Amino acid sequence: MRWFILTTLILFPLGSALRAAVNADGVYVPDAPESLTTVPAATIEEAVAEFSDTDAPELAAAKKTAQKPQGAVKPGGGVRFVMYNGKRYVYLRDVADYYKMQPVISSKTCALYGKKFQISMFYDKTYAFVNGLLVHLFYPPVYRNGNAMLSEVDFLRQLDPIFRDYSLTRHVVRTIMIDPGHGGKDEGGRGRLYREKDITLRLGIKLKKALEKMGYKVLMTRTGDQTLTLDQRADMTTAAKADLFISIHCNKTTNRSVCGLETFIMPATGTPSTYGSSNNGKAPGNRLDGNNTRLGYEVHSSVREATSAYDRGLKRARFFVIRNANCPSVLIETGFLSNRFEERRLAEDSYQDKIVDGIVKGIYTYQRAMLKNR
Ligand SMILES: [Zn+2]
Repeated sequence: MRWFILTTLILFPLGSALRAAVNADGVYVPDAPESLTTVPAATIEEAVAEFSDTDAPELAAAKKTAQKPQGAVKPGGGVRFVMYNGKRYVYLRDVADYYKMQPVISSKTCALYGKKFQISMFYDKTYAFVNGLLVHLFYPPVYRNGNAMLSEVDFLRQLDPIFRDYSLTRHVVRTIMIDPGHGGKDEGGRGRLYREKDITLRLGIKLKKALEKMGYKVLMTRTGDQTLTLDQRADMTTAAKADLFISIHCNKTTNRSVCGLETFIMPATGTPSTYGSSNNGKAPGNRLDGNNTRLGYEVHSSVREATSAYDRGLKRARFFVIRNANCPSVLIETGFLSNRFEERRLAEDSYQDKIVDGIVKGIYTYQRAMLKNR
């Protein structure tokens, strides 16, 4: 992972998080997602009752800035938020109503059960399971006075893009940029037998062929053993006006028993990465936050299913290439070269084919969900 330089971001102005995404060349279809807003809790008393922690200084601030009571909120009338630790949190029961799901709330865990989806969450933990798949939330859910609360950004940018196809911003998917990690002088990770740069290239070439068969225009940041900077990769993606960006990597760590698949996407604007980096200014990669979530979810889900690899989760990090990709993007850590078993598998054609099948299926499922008639 050290090859990704998490340099200081140029801070972009924090504008509306959901601006319709259209570029000058009309690559993106100007179709803003259905608007979804949360509303303040009916009264500040209600908020205070939910969050009676006397040690939360935000509570005092919330009291001051709270709006006057606006009357009772009708059932199903909206998803209410309250301020907690300086952030907006929504009632999980309201979220359940919104999706017509069944909430199950205990003092240890909380969950939502629906026809298509179920999600289990744990207080003070960022990990959650969506249909059994490990997905990292931006912030841990909290439990207060019998209520489970979820951060608003997790509701809007994590759950909603997965649960509701219509929340996605529609865009054309014609050109796909594949980025085989490392290359040339930069070998990437090295296992006992194989080098990361060789495996990522083989995977990239296979993926290109598979996507071309489906009719996509596919480009690669490298087709041979070239040395490329991260800037060059990002510039190529922008110049090609790519509609999707897929970066392929292999993992490595000192603990040889560690193995499995992990998929990285950009943290939503203003949110920390899974490993806590708070360097959270807006970047080109934040253009379609909700779409990043759905693309990452579909790709991670289908690669995991195709390979049966150990699930290390859908995670968030501002890696240079996905931070600077002006289109939905994903970085897949296909497995660990430091694990003997996984290293051997990663080099096998049959296993590479499974990874490629998974990525292709993920892209296809993403595109179908996004382009659903509405
Ligand atoms: Zn790598």
